[in-house]
Amino acid sequence: MYRTHPCNALRKEQIGQTVTLSGWVNSRRDHGGVIFIDLRDREGVTQVVFRPEEHPQVAENAHELRGEDVIRVTGLVSARLPGTENPKLATGDIEIVATGLDVLNKADVPPFPLDSKVANEDLRLGYRYLDLRRPEMAHNLKLRHRVAKATRDYLDEHGFLEIETPILSNPTPEGARDFLVPSRLNPGEFYALPQAPQQYKQLLQVAGLEKYFQIARCFRDEDLRADRQPEFTQIDLEASFIGEEEIQTLIEGLLARIFRESRGIEIPTPFRRITWREAMERYGSDKPDLRFGVELVELSELFRESQFKVFRSVIESGGVIKAINAKGAAAAFSKEQLKKWEEWVKAEFGAKGLAYIRLKDGVWESPIVKFLGEAEKAALAERMGFEEGDVLFFGAGEWEPTVTILGRVRLRVAELLKLVTDPDELNFSWVVEFPLLAWSAEENKWVAVHHPFTRPKAEDVALLESGEYAKVRAVAYDVVLNGVELGGGSIRIHERDLQSKMFEILGVNAEEQQHKFGHLLRAFSFGAPPHGGVALGLDRLVMLIAGAESIREVIAFPKNNRGVDLMTHSPVEVDFKQLRELYIQSTAKKG
Ligand code: ASP
Repeated sequence: MYRTHPCNALRKEQIGQTVTLSGWVNSRRDHGGVIFIDLRDREGVTQVVFRPEEHPQVAENAHELRGEDVIRVTGLVSARLPGTENPKLATGDIEIVATGLDVLNKADVPPFPLDSKVANEDLRLGYRYLDLRRPEMAHNLKLRHRVAKATRDYLDEHGFLEIETPILSNPTPEGARDFLVPSRLNPGEFYALPQAPQQYKQLLQVAGLEKYFQIARCFRDEDLRADRQPEFTQIDLEASFIGEEEIQTLIEGLLARIFRESRGIEIPTPFRRITWREAMERYGSDKPDLRFGVELVELSELFRESQFKVFRSVIESGGVIKAINAKGAAAAFSKEQLKKWEEWVKAEFGAKGLAYIRLKDGVWESPIVKFLGEAEKAALAERMGFEEGDVLFFGAGEWEPTVTILGRVRLRVAELLKLVTDPDELNFSWVVEFPLLAWSAEENKWVAVHHPFTRPKAEDVALLESGEYAKVRAVAYDVVLNGVELGGGSIRIHERDLQSKMFEILGVNAEEQQHKFGHLLRAFSFGAPPHGGVALGLDRLVMLIAGAESIREVIAFPKNNRGVDLMTHSPVEVDFKQLRELYIQSTAKKG
């Protein structure tokens, strides 16, 4: 037998018992011939002492032990000497006096210490199996398990069935590039790895399964950032005969359950609802961080007749003027820094500039202040609550880019002024009524803001008919925590004609519709129930719960930001001979 107990279990009550433990040598200390080791397994650490006067051979063998050796120890649970107890350790009152030792496997010296922070992430990823031995990493994976378990329990209790959908599938438009897999049996043809199980989960509704969920692996070939991986996991669900509010309530309950079971925290529900339009107007973001104010204020009316030509002409050409007040920031933001802010918005967002006014020692300091009349200044001060020590930042131009840039400035102001005072605050909200469509200048066509299966609001269907696409709102919603999007979903189109119309607007002609989405359109003509759903990013959620800085910290074997697994060296070059064969076969088939 390898063990009678895990390494976190023994207490005073077991003193006098003979036990067997197995694990890794966490550390080894030699106190004048008496060897102490901390024996570690997944659950914790127990101190083992080898006394030469009692068991000379065993103690002799213990001299050979090194960190990370795998051993089995048998011994007597004993009280630690008074004064040597370790209150930080669950097993800190006792130690095992070893009577037997087996070395199960010797270890080389690890390439990095396992008991302290390691800055070189590439090194960690290259030896991920060692990195995961570190307690904080094991903790993250346990947390992830608890989140997944809470999700399964909760959704099961709510009547959802866990159903797997294909990994070898067809492209489904979620706005990213597909990973493609050649089909050996169908030369020249490819599977796409799912960006999301979207169409399958809708087809499960047509199939009458009513409530589906899956902890689903999704694949998107995108440029990577700290919180992105080419493969990631979503808590994906879909249900029939359900409305937007019911889905939101269900998810609030799910998140409450997850936070309760993983962190012991009660989160207040229901979450605040805010429309996309309001979120953009007031916070300049579709995932607003509502932990602080610094709201965007509309100033277009105020500057309509202004002597300041730049502002006036923006308004005349249909744009907007907005501003935020960074209260008390004058001392923190020097003039040189403010110049840097301007460079930042120019470089980062292609903005023309970032007008500001700083009120210091009663003086309005700003390159634009000479263009403003006294009445205008008074009205501005009143509207913005502008006082000694404040800094105003202005955005001027087309509505969406202007509010978006000012929204980013708002976040930076909050960060620099440390406006988030409670690091444990969890501020959840739903952003609702997203636009259905957006004009893509790049592609020169309308694109779906969520995806093409999202339903327009009933009141706005007429706008769809009349071609006023920009005004059509969708029954789509995102759940946001502290300015981070946790997930989103929508009520779907379940009528064949409306779905077809939607494709048409997106530039997918009838023939292409049949080719790419014929299965879905056909399914909708066999009695499709009204349905909707949502997907939450599991990695990001666990990252936030763990307080980790990157999703790589909560994924067992992640890729680095070049999409490489540094341990297995995946991806690898393919066997070119095999590839050539495939090519020859496929060209032969195509004639
Ligand atoms: N499939 C969507 C996504 O991955 C979520 C949904 O609409 O349910 O973002």
